[in-house]
Amino acid sequence: MPIFEYSCRSCQAQFELLVRTGTELACPTCGGVDLEKLLSLPAIKSENTHRNALAAAKKRDQKLGNEKAAAQREYEIKHND
Ligand SMILES: [Zn+2]
Repeated sequence: MPIFEYSCRSCQAQFELLVRTGTELACPTCGGVDLEKLLSLPAIKSENTHRNALAAAKKRDQKLGNEKAAAQREYEIKHND
């Protein structure tokens, strides 16, 4: 699932949006639809950051015995393309 970074021309907010087919792109700050797509970070870097974040969260969940959340993240990792 691609995540793109956008800048809002109305309020200059910058944000990331998960873009699905049929997603209507709008600024989460002001609701504006005049968005500029920014060049994203190198894929490998953001991918690693994402995985590290998931791994850290998973470790924390396991500590808490929250297996359901860990299973959900496992699913997300495997389907994160
Ligand atoms: Zn805006």
